[in-house]
Amino acid sequence: MTAQPRERANDDQAASGQRVHGASKLPDRAQVVVVGGGIIGTSVAYHLALMGMKNVLLLERDRLTSGTTWHAAGLMATFGSTSQTSTELRQYTRDLYSRLEAETGLATGLKQCGLIELAIEPGRLEEYRRVAAFNRHLGVEVHEITPREVAELWPLARTDDVLAGFYIPDDGRVNPVDVTMSLARGARTRGVTIIEGVPVTGFLRDRGTVTGVRTDQGDVEAEYVVNCAGMWARQLGELAGVSIPLQAAEHYYLLTEPIEGVDGSWPVLEDPASYGYYREEGGGLMLGMFEPVCAPWRVDGIPPDFSFGELAPDWDRMSPYLETTMARVPVTEQIGIRKFFCGPESFTPDLLPIIGEAPELKNYFVAAGLNSIGILTGGGIGRTIAQWIIDGSPDIDVTAMNIDRLHPYQANPEYRATRTVESLGLVYATHYPHRPTRTARGARVSPLHDRLAARRACFRDVSGWEGADWYAPEGVEPDGGELTWGRPHWFGYWEAEHHATRDGVIVMDMSFMAKFLVQGRDAARELERISANQVAAEPGRITYTQWLNERGRLEADLTVTMLDDDEFFVVASDTAHRHALTWMRRHFGDAHANAADMTSGYAQLNVQGPLSRDLMAAVTGADMSNDAFGFRAARYIDIGFARALCIRITYLGELGYELHIPAEQAAAVYDRLIAAGEPLGLRHAGLKALASLRMEKAYRDYGHDIDNTDSAFEAGLGFAVALDKPGGFIGREAVVAQKAAGPPTRRLVQVLLGDPEPLMHHAEIVSRNGSPAGYIRAASYGFTLGGAVGLAMIDADEPVNQKYLDSGEWTVRIGDSVYPARVSLRPMYDPASKRVHM
Ligand SMILES: Cc1cc2nc3c(=O)[nH]c(=O)nc-3n(C[C@H](O)[C@H](O)[C@H](O)COP(=O)(O)OP(=O)(O)OC[C@H]3O[C@@H](n4cnc5c(N)ncnc54)[C@H](O)[C@@H]3O)c2cc1C
Repeated sequence: MTAQPRERANDDQAASGQRVHGASKLPDRAQVVVVGGGIIGTSVAYHLALMGMKNVLLLERDRLTSGTTWHAAGLMATFGSTSQTSTELRQYTRDLYSRLEAETGLATGLKQCGLIELAIEPGRLEEYRRVAAFNRHLGVEVHEITPREVAELWPLARTDDVLAGFYIPDDGRVNPVDVTMSLARGARTRGVTIIEGVPVTGFLRDRGTVTGVRTDQGDVEAEYVVNCAGMWARQLGELAGVSIPLQAAEHYYLLTEPIEGVDGSWPVLEDPASYGYYREEGGGLMLGMFEPVCAPWRVDGIPPDFSFGELAPDWDRMSPYLETTMARVPVTEQIGIRKFFCGPESFTPDLLPIIGEAPELKNYFVAAGLNSIGILTGGGIGRTIAQWIIDGSPDIDVTAMNIDRLHPYQANPEYRATRTVESLGLVYATHYPHRPTRTARGARVSPLHDRLAARRACFRDVSGWEGADWYAPEGVEPDGGELTWGRPHWFGYWEAEHHATRDGVIVMDMSFMAKFLVQGRDAARELERISANQVAAEPGRITYTQWLNERGRLEADLTVTMLDDDEFFVVASDTAHRHALTWMRRHFGDAHANAADMTSGYAQLNVQGPLSRDLMAAVTGADMSNDAFGFRAARYIDIGFARALCIRITYLGELGYELHIPAEQAAAVYDRLIAAGEPLGLRHAGLKALASLRMEKAYRDYGHDIDNTDSAFEAGLGFAVALDKPGGFIGREAVVAQKAAGPPTRRLVQVLLGDPEPLMHHAEIVSRNGSPAGYIRAASYGFTLGGAVGLAMIDADEPVNQKYLDSGEWTVRIGDSVYPARVSLRPMYDPASKRVHM
């Protein structure tokens, strides 16, 4: 990184015998065009060739690494995430970099000198113990070490305030330029054409599919295009009509003059509480920084000719942070500064990368927005994109990273400028549960927002919507208060909302749910084709279904309501919004079936609880009796001047109704419900209650506890697969094969702690007879069941049935403690669903 990358780039080209800069002839055709020659583009090209793709072309605007890659610090950390996907991307990347030199003959500069993470305060210690347990479960070697051991490994660090260190001996650092060049050589050797000095200036498209790229030297036709243009990716995406909401921000490190005693074999040291990381560089130290409030760079657009560029450091803004960072290694306060480096890096609205096929344009893939971990995940990202293109669907859980989780409005200049201020600092924040997003709030609000605010709702960001999370009583601020791993101050208010749903009646605003009206002569046939369950059997009926891919893995989990022979209402969760819509549009093709996005047109109010029928009967003249309006019935009903679609369904495990109300009539319907609900003790319930209620009933939530790697049987959703329905469905063949293979040895189970005190959040390790068997994918607190409850995917070498569960002793590790647990295939709350059908 500091070793003159321009020369290095040319060295490699000379070494590989390839023509440099503008000398290669641009082909007319390629199977895949990769745009951008940073770590990500070269990794994608390398992996495409490795997996057998012929005729891959990589086009780089200037020279390889000239964007962000050349100046990265090169930290390699497998430790740090409680996401299986992220941890596996990191592990794969480290392994790849360690074997690349043997394959390509070009060194990557990987130095597995170790990594130490410091925990200075109890919240961080708790986080790192949880992360350590999770990372160990996935095969990362992590040791918790004492402050004295930290001092032995890193003598120049202040350790008097350190609670513990977390030492990962196999992590360390790499040279980002060298690894890029090594990947490029590996790609070329396998037949990839890499041409530098050719900017892509536009895209060719035909009926919603990308068909090539445009350059000043001519067009190149292609079956697939991958936008790996780093911080330029957003602008480049615009040329294709694809929204890629990432934003560059200033990112800093400081290089000191040589320091006596500094040793290149020392581990990399990270102290997030001091905003800093520390490693040897040129006999001195590199101090890298993640300041809590950061500065977006060039919201109006990245200059097209910015190459091997540096930004003038903002000393005034950075000085206070720098002082804190330097104080961790006091010698740096006395030594000369060789350079205070500032370079731009891309950040995304949720600090997760943007990968996958663009919803707007088929075969147009994106791999960008790496949030300062592009080097240490670059190998894994490249492998994933290549595998996805070649096989048609990804083989790892991409739900949190998929480009289709994001929305076009997030590319607004004002949104990017506002949100990005918070992004970079979150890398080093303690990742407490329930941490609220503080910036770019109010981007999307429900038609009932002001009324809920008047009821003292504490809102949180739900895919950009303001979602009422819980309600504060009079005299209490609707504010989350201090972040904690334990019980927050609002625990009791949440509990009251939970019990009100189980015992009485509540109203819950879920207007953020994605809603689609599907109409047309072929609508029934097409929805049956993409749904594993039978969804078009009877008008006026809702059906819970999954959509599967050809491999029989889950693509979506939603409901389809048949309104008429040729009219359906599809409702999916907020995170699945664009995925579900794209899935329909792509699969409907030329059929006479149209999916219209009605999300903004309807509010969704849930009226739930054993008294919900009484409340509904009080606001409408419709017959709400069980005989007339049974479970799964869907009808239009009148409430005052309004007409709403009322569906008897629940996600909370009680008698209940979902009301879809035209947005402009939502407030009036809400007012009626509130007035009529007073004698029934109607309460408001928020999304925290939604989480605890659905978790007791083990209802699944796509993207949280089930994902694109699971089959319906593994997810415990075999009951919703209509294998014998006429005409079949996408993925049926795979499902038949899964069924023939016998009961799954991998199965989602419900887990309940015996001790009512501890809380589970996510990623806690579940063991059977003392051996790790899986981890908690999502959890909440079961106020009715009397303890923390979650869903875990269990892996075994025999079928995971109830006998298997009952014959083992189950425990859950939370931080440093181990708690007995009960596990079950069936929901522990109301397993026969009597309350739902009452
Ligand atoms: C100060 C700093 C320190 C960092 N430290 C680390 C670290 O320690 N570890 C880590 O993992 N990450 C680190 N990062 C982050 C890392 O550098 C990035 O995540 C990574 O380099 C991004 O790679 P990329 O390929 O997406 O982008 P880039 O490297 O920017 O590559 C994009 C390429 O696309 C090209 N391009 C753009 N437009 C076009 C076009 N129209 N046609 C053709 N080509 C085009 C550009 O020229 C560029 O070469 C750091 C970043 C900074 C700023």
